[in-house]
Amino acid sequence: MSNQEDGIFQDAIKRLDSAFPYADIDEEPLEKLKHPKATLEVSIPVRMDDGRLQIFDGYRVQHDNTRGPTKGGIRYHPDVNMDEVKALAFWMTLKCAVAGLPFGGAKGGITVDAKTLSHMELERLSRSFIQQIADFIGPGIDVPGPDMYTNEMIMGWMMDEYSKIKRQHTPAVITGKPIPLGGSLGRADATGRGAYYCIKQIENINKWNPRDIRVAVQGFGNVAQSVALLLYNDGYKVVAVSDSQGGIFNEQGLDIPRVICGKNETKALNTAYCKGSVAHFMNNGAITNQELLELDVDLLVPAALQNQIHAHNAERIKAPYIVEGANGPTTSEADSILNSRGKFVAPDILANAGGVTVSYFEWVQNRSGISWTLEEVHTRLRTIMDTEFHNVYRLAERRGIDMRCAAYAHGLNRIGVAIQSLGTHRYFSEPHGQKAHPGHADGLD
Ligand code: GLU
Repeated sequence: MSNQEDGIFQDAIKRLDSAFPYADIDEEPLEKLKHPKATLEVSIPVRMDDGRLQIFDGYRVQHDNTRGPTKGGIRYHPDVNMDEVKALAFWMTLKCAVAGLPFGGAKGGITVDAKTLSHMELERLSRSFIQQIADFIGPGIDVPGPDMYTNEMIMGWMMDEYSKIKRQHTPAVITGKPIPLGGSLGRADATGRGAYYCIKQIENINKWNPRDIRVAVQGFGNVAQSVALLLYNDGYKVVAVSDSQGGIFNEQGLDIPRVICGKNETKALNTAYCKGSVAHFMNNGAITNQELLELDVDLLVPAALQNQIHAHNAERIKAPYIVEGANGPTTSEADSILNSRGKFVAPDILANAGGVTVSYFEWVQNRSGISWTLEEVHTRLRTIMDTEFHNVYRLAERRGIDMRCAAYAHGLNRIGVAIQSLGTHRYFSEPHGQKAHPGHADGLD
């Protein structure tokens, strides 16, 4: 059955079955992860600038909280629906486990084309959403953060609204806030930076000289801009980038700081989003998003939407290395095609874990009341990304499996160990003599 027929959540959980034989866990955690813990669907009333009342659909899914409060972003996009939010929440559970963070996974979203709203409509929408979900979230329950088309200003409004409802300043309820409202240094470019650290590991393994490496980045939002800029500064040849309107290509390498300036300079001061598109840089060759994915480059970084590499184009992907900056850019059908063609894929649940990792740092700082320096944030992020890249890479090598399968097995091991540590399952499954009784063999005395 194809991904389209399956639905994105069903397609996403297929990866659990492929990874299970390589994980050191029993079937219980696996079954648990195939069902989200709780889903919430809300109607969000918003008074529009022209006086009309418009109702938007909103979602929050808590997928699994075995390892801690659930964590995951809020997305504003016209295509947002419950199935997609469930898949995104599932990926967050695995991502937090792969990164070793004490969080489960969650995700939220509103079905809206946020670019069409005025600044004040956007604020009313964001505050109204928090009014609907305030009893579902909390610093020790479920901690939202930013995702596509939500930014630090929106996170600030949401934290403020939650604090008003609870009558208590509560910065740790949401991450990705502006720095003066309790945000962390280094959060803004954290997802792109995490992907960049993965690329540095691949560079190390393959002894790459950045000047010889041609890179195509699909997307030009927060993640794509950060990763493109970090690679450009290292001397990599970023030959193509794109956004929803199309892409640009330059064989000699793009001047990334100029493209970023150009895209952002048309950002009107009274709106939250850029109005420019990279596609306006016509002195570079114009290409479509599809063409970008199929370019003859050394490294492809899909950093836009999900389901970009699928059964119909996976055969035509030329890049030998793919580092997934987006969530779910590759369908499960495409996985096997890419694997049979020997492609090296650093999967989303590893490669884009930098964002939620620095969100975790922000949550820790908010709860402790201590602020970290940018250097501290970068060092800690690098340590986590390097360590987990190598954990996944070693598992892949040892078991002769691809990086995605290894990342899932690694995440499953961490979730499985947490479930088994509760001891209940063991009580039923092991012979009497080995039961865990406090004060005996398994106790802490
Ligand atoms: N949206 C980010 C992701 O997909 C992270 C959100 C957060 O920081 O909670 O990983």
